[in-house]
Amino acid sequence: MTVEEVRLGLHTVQLRPENGGKYPQANPLLVRGTERTALIDSALHTSPADADLLLVSHSHEDHTVGAGEAAEVWVHSADAAAMRDQAVFLDAMGIPDEAAPAMVEEFRWSPVPDVRTFEDGHVFDLGGGVTVTAIHLPGHTPGHSGFLVQPDGVAFIGDVDLSSFGPLYSDRGARIADYRATLETCARLTADVVATAHHKGPYRDRAEYLQALADFGRVLDRREEAILDLVRAGVNTAEGMVGRGVVYRPGRRPAFADRVEVSTCGKHLADLVDRGVVTVDEDGVHRLV
Ligand SMILES: [Zn+2]
Ligand SMILES: [Zn+2]
Repeated sequence: MTVEEVRLGLHTVQLRPENGGKYPQANPLLVRGTERTALIDSALHTSPADADLLLVSHSHEDHTVGAGEAAEVWVHSADAAAMRDQAVFLDAMGIPDEAAPAMVEEFRWSPVPDVRTFEDGHVFDLGGGVTVTAIHLPGHTPGHSGFLVQPDGVAFIGDVDLSSFGPLYSDRGARIADYRATLETCARLTADVVATAHHKGPYRDRAEYLQALADFGRVLDRREEAILDLVRAGVNTAEGMVGRGVVYRPGRRPAFADRVEVSTCGKHLADLVDRGVVTVDEDGVHRLV
């Protein structure tokens, strides 16, 4: 596969595959200091064994390809269990056991029992004044994190991918309140270049980035409005909301659409209950307050 090296800064390149990084592919960054080289996320076209450090934005399979081959792997502590243990990973993603072998093969997935963990603000020193600082951006997964590369002024915001699909928060540990806070954190980021893990960007113009971020956030609001309309119409459970266009348009849907949709609608209902907009009874039936 042809991989384009898009230069984002003096020490930072984006490794962009032919399809621009659309899932199942992704756009990792390679950062070179004078002493160490860090790969930020590993995708289908990267070999983490070539870098000294692999820093992953989160535990999902398209960001941790071949992580077991890396010399040293780091993830936020809240995503570590999903990298150490396949059962935890499959449960977090809602992947049925029978789908596991194909996922393992496609993404060179293996548990990484000795994965190291960072918290928000952890600084990785690559030598020669080049640093990578972790920025906790939860909501997609509990440990989802971005990275700021200095002195390049390059920010990587992972699966806050600014796609027209909108935010994805179907992971077991995902929370909408966290995602909303993350969108605010992303709006406050000051960087010369912002790169996402998938096909949108890199953004070199701040106004264009902020517009893309606002459009992305609005998808979350639109889903909430659709869910409130369904509750008003008497569709009162997450299961009942599947196939009604909240996340995927009706019609041709990917195989995993039902499980993403039931989880996503469930997260919205839980968020609306937390905010006192909706109540839920012991049978799981939701009503407007
Ligand atoms: Zn992800
Ligand atoms: Zn991804």
